[in-house]
Amino acid sequence: MGRKRFEEISGEYDVVVAGGGLGGLTAANILAKNGHRVLLAEHHFQLGGLATYFKRKNHIFDVALHGFPIGMKKTLRKYWSQDMADRIIQVKSIRFDNPQFTLETTFTRDDFTGILINKFKLKKETVDAFYNELESMNFYDDNKMTNRDLFNKYFPGRNDVVRLLMEPITYANGSNLDELAITYGIVFSNFMSKGVYTFLGGTDLMIDMMEKELSKNGADFCTKARVEKVIVEEGKVSGVRINGRQIKCRSVLSNGNILSTIHEWTGDKYFSPDFMEKTRNVRLNTSSCQVYIGLKKGEKFDFIGDLLFTSTYPTFEPGKLLSKDVTSRTYSVYYPEIRPGSDDYTIVASMNARYEDWADLSPVEYENAKNHLIEDTLTALDKYVPGIKGKIDFTEAATPKTFKRYTLHGLGSSFGTKFEGLEISMKISEQVSGLFHAGSVGIIMSGWLGAANYGVIVSNKIDKYLCNL
Ligand SMILES: Cc1cc2nc3c(=O)[nH]c(=O)nc-3n(C[C@H](O)[C@H](O)[C@H](O)COP(=O)(O)OP(=O)(O)OC[C@H]3O[C@@H](n4cnc5c(N)ncnc54)[C@H](O)[C@@H]3O)c2cc1C
Repeated sequence: MGRKRFEEISGEYDVVVAGGGLGGLTAANILAKNGHRVLLAEHHFQLGGLATYFKRKNHIFDVALHGFPIGMKKTLRKYWSQDMADRIIQVKSIRFDNPQFTLETTFTRDDFTGILINKFKLKKETVDAFYNELESMNFYDDNKMTNRDLFNKYFPGRNDVVRLLMEPITYANGSNLDELAITYGIVFSNFMSKGVYTFLGGTDLMIDMMEKELSKNGADFCTKARVEKVIVEEGKVSGVRINGRQIKCRSVLSNGNILSTIHEWTGDKYFSPDFMEKTRNVRLNTSSCQVYIGLKKGEKFDFIGDLLFTSTYPTFEPGKLLSKDVTSRTYSVYYPEIRPGSDDYTIVASMNARYEDWADLSPVEYENAKNHLIEDTLTALDKYVPGIKGKIDFTEAATPKTFKRYTLHGLGSSFGTKFEGLEISMKISEQVSGLFHAGSVGIIMSGWLGAANYGVIVSNKIDKYLCNL
């Protein structure tokens, strides 16, 4: 039990979890705890999926630990361990700096209400009515209102207000003004309830603790194990092919991309024409670029906030956040306190991006574009950390191609699929018995909390399926 090389794996499993992102890991842990024989197979050499980290020189870089809602504490306590839940701490200072406004916030409803009334000169009744509408939104209502409709209803002509309310969510899940307001409402309200949180000790410690829990609960897991095929016999899952070898199992939980799960791993012929028609309409979400910056040993800078949403673009336009000519960046600043005992300062700049802007560059063009991205980011960062170029000893950049290579998501999608992917993901088991999916879909199931909670929901379905076989 525990971590194994794939060559050591033999025998049969109740469930094979394909992919070790937070959705797959959480489901695997619950199913193993419930006594099922679980194998988790991850193609990368490290678990975590997008919730990952890497080590270079003396630095540890967190890729996707900018912040999540307080709900992660309950999820970790109930489905992982009290020790992990105890490590959830609040991110104290979130700053915005753009041509429309500069401000600092704790990112809570109370704080935002004060800012909207005092700084943006809105009426309290309007702000309260906006929040009340968000909180009354119910996932099961057939509400077709878009974000654009929602903002026009409460804040017509106020692009500055829309920027404050929407920009962080666009960064967090790639959503834009044409998305359904319900997806914005759920994610934004989750954050606004108590602010933004992080994991004390960093992503490396969290993934390490998850590995230990998985082992303790009896799951087998391997990295460098790529699921190539889901084997279906008489409409029912009977196994998987991993690294060219067949493993028998009674069910499969895919944590990979929903479209790859259907088209590549399983095969279109196993799904009804109606289901395939809907699947063809599922849009992948956009991707990301990041620049990782490590300070030389002994160098430091004063507190500049934990999360900085910056832009030099005059107004808020979600499309502009995707442009290769970057004007908007989020900086996640990691002070040594995030890893007690360490003296490491790192900064990760994140930008939304489109795969097609990077995919067809020649190797030389690609290298140049990456260097340009790094250089531009350092120049922009100098406003917040003066003299930054003289303080650092490491920089690296990730592009949509990087995200694709490490996670195998089509178009390097950072946030799964748009809303329509959720129905496909939820109903996949009605098409092929024993085939389930839990991973970023529909915007609301992405992010650390969304993905982990989706793993919980789907593990319950699998548990029922296995018990009724
Ligand atoms: C730059 C960036 C910053 C982010 N910042 C935040 C943040 O601050 N807060 C937040 O809450 N969220 C953030 N997110 C989003 C969050 O990290 C993800 O939504 C979440 O981790 C996704 O989890 P998941 O379960 O959907 O799986 P994923 O993380 O997508 O993992 C899927 C796993 O499946 C594996 N896999 C795929 N195909 C196969 C195969 N054939 N065989 C075996 N394994 C396979 C992949 O290698 C991967 O490990 C960020 C994302 C990005 C890209």
